Parts: sequence; structure tokens; C-alpha cells
Amino acid sequence: MLLFDTHCHLDLPELAADLPAFLAVAMDAGIRRILVPAVEAARWNGLLQLQQTTALQLDVALGIHPWWAESASEEQLDLLAQLLQTEASVCAVGEIGLDFALVKADEIATQQLHQWQQTLFSAQLAVAAQARKPVVLHHRKSQPALLAELKRQQFSQGGILHAFSGSQAQAHAFLDLGFKLGIGGTISYERAQKTRDTVKKLPLSALVLETDAPAMPLAGFQGQVNTPAQLALVFQQLCALRPESPVVLAEALWQNSLSALQLPA
Ligand SMILES: [Zn+2]
Repeated sequence: MLLFDTHCHLDLPELAADLPAFLAVAMDAGIRRILVPAVEAARWNGLLQLQQTTALQLDVALGIHPWWAESASEEQLDLLAQLLQTEASVCAVGEIGLDFALVKADEIATQQLHQWQQTLFSAQLAVAAQARKPVVLHHRKSQPALLAELKRQQFSQGGILHAFSGSQAQAHAFLDLGFKLGIGGTISYERAQKTRDTVKKLPLSALVLETDAPAMPLAGFQGQVNTPAQLALVFQQLCALRPESPVVLAEALWQNSLSALQLPA
């Protein structure tokens, strides 16, 4: 069975330090394709080169993660729009979104930070729409605000809601807008009962797999660096929740990944 990791930060230091080894272990575990989303503009060039120097198939999303919102600039947004035109290998805009769990020392500074995130998200969504690219969305305590902006812009390219957690209603709000849901290590935790229950009952067409490595280790691996090979364990967890056979599940997840990222079959 061939697996597609739709969210893995191979360029971050924990993985980049020994990338060939991590990718070799991932290959052995059945991972054949990985989407690497950017977190900040300073890493875009590195990502474009990363893709051209490895045997395992890598796809790239370029964008600015909300944690880096304060260092974002107009010039970077212009460069993003330009790279989406010139670099055929860039399939999506990401990782972009809103992180309202991120706070400052006082209320006013926190509000300013969240406002700046909103401005940046809105601008990047418009760039993605202009380039007709899907987006990879980051959310923490921000699903309503993300939905509001997607609707305000009538964004129609879809993409992936990364690190999905939530209820049926929350899931369907994004599915209705053409998104798929990134299913990762969260489902390995007993305490994530609501999310596990949701993932069990969603239409199969809603789901894609992800590790979010080096972040989000699975249950039993807390405190360790998460790696792309762990996608096989996320897949096992999903198999245990779902009624479909592993073969059917793997094939559907692969096709869902291509579809969400508008990649040719
Ligand atoms: Zn991420």
C-alpha cells in the first residue's frame, strides 16, 4: 500500500539534519509522496531545491504560517504570487491560517497579533485564488474565523484543513467548501474521542493522511521527534476506526490527496 503524507515539514531542522535517512525509512514504511508546506518566506528557496534533489516524490506548498505573521511583508506576498506563476512544482499555498491560541503578554497585543494574522491570511487566500491554487490551512481556536473569510472571498479552490479535530458539524462546514480533512496523530489519543468518533463516520472522500512531522507525535511517542515514517502508524489507527479494508482505504486516501491538491492522477 502506498501512502501520501499531505503535511510534513521536511525542511525544519529536526528532519533536515538527517533527511536522506528519514526518507529512506519512510520509503520502507510505504510512504511514496509527501507534501512539504512552508512556514516562512525565508525557507521558500530551500523548499524548491529540496524537491529537486530527492528520489521520493515531494510536492511543495509555499506560504507564511500564522506563527510567522509578524515578520511577513508586502514584498513576500508579491514574491509568493510570482513563484506560483513561475514554479510549476508548487501545487498549493500553505501553510496559512489563523492561530488564536497564540497569545501575547497583554490583551491589546494579542488582539493586534490576531488582527495581523487575519490580514495576512486574507491576503494569502486572495493570492491563492488568483493563481487558482488550493490552500493548506492551519487552525487553532479559529475555525469560525477561517470559514468566515473563505466565504467572504468565495474561495473555490479548496485544499486541506490540516490537523483536523472536531465534530461532524465542524467537519462538514469545511467539506461543504470543497476541503478535505488532514487526519494525523490526534486520532491515536484516547482523549480525542470526539474527533475519533467524527473520523469514523465521515464520508471516505473527506479524508487525507498527515504526520505534521517533526511535530505532533503519536500516542506512545510523546516527547520524541515525529517522522514521516510514522504515517504508517496513523494509517493503522485510521484502519482500526474505519469500516473499509486497508486496501480500499489506502487507495481512496491517495486519490483524495491528489484531488485536494489538484495534482494529476
Ligand atoms: Zn504544519
